[in-house]
Amino acid sequence: MRNLIIAIDGPAGAGKSTISKIIAEKLNIEYIDTGAMYRAVTLKIIRKGISLNDDDAIECMLKETEIDFINGRIYLDGEDVSKDIRTIEVSSKVSDVAAKSYVRQRLVEIQKNMAAKKSVIMDGRDIGTNVLKDANYKIFLTASVEERAKRRYKEMIEKGSNVTFEDVCKDIENRDRIDSTRKVNPLRKADDAIEVDTTSKSIDEVVDEILSIVNKRE
Ligand code: C5P
Repeated sequence: MRNLIIAIDGPAGAGKSTISKIIAEKLNIEYIDTGAMYRAVTLKIIRKGISLNDDDAIECMLKETEIDFINGRIYLDGEDVSKDIRTIEVSSKVSDVAAKSYVRQRLVEIQKNMAAKKSVIMDGRDIGTNVLKDANYKIFLTASVEERAKRRYKEMIEKGSNVTFEDVCKDIENRDRIDSTRKVNPLRKADDAIEVDTTSKSIDEVVDEILSIVNKRE
């Protein structure tokens, strides 16, 4: 049977990871969170105290960096960093790291390999336009900025973070701007992607909508 490849793109807080995880479970395929990979690289830069302007040091660090997903957790050089990558500090720097072409080149190569031999649902910003251009299904998830900031704030507070709503709003607006204006593979809807606005929909409604797109075309 041929592999099933689903690409999910969209801005921060549109619901990509929540929705993708549920769909992966329902279809019994693997979920790959590419944002977590850019976050893991950013975490390592912060921990090592490397300046974001020091491209030589970052490029050198990348050569000695291993990123894996095991049972839905992300591992950086063998350490489970699933929680550490979700801080506001990592969030505030990740888009600048992700705008670097050599960082993207390295991570996109790993992402393509991950999707080469199995059925996957992969979420990010450039999956439908660049990483998995031949995906069977491409979905572009959106929601208003207010709604996305509310969701992200709730999620962070529930996880014990002490951020303010204003911090989260600023972070989302800042990342939207950098992610959609960068030179290399900016965030945009692929021409053949189906746009799903999640603003006033429940998680179940969005999951059903995407599953009906997949089932209709299978
Ligand atoms: O998905 P998440 O919000 O965790 O992604 C964090 C950041 O990683 C994004 O704001 C973006 O800068 C970067 N990213 C990217 N390309 C992807 C996935 C994420 O540039 N495919």
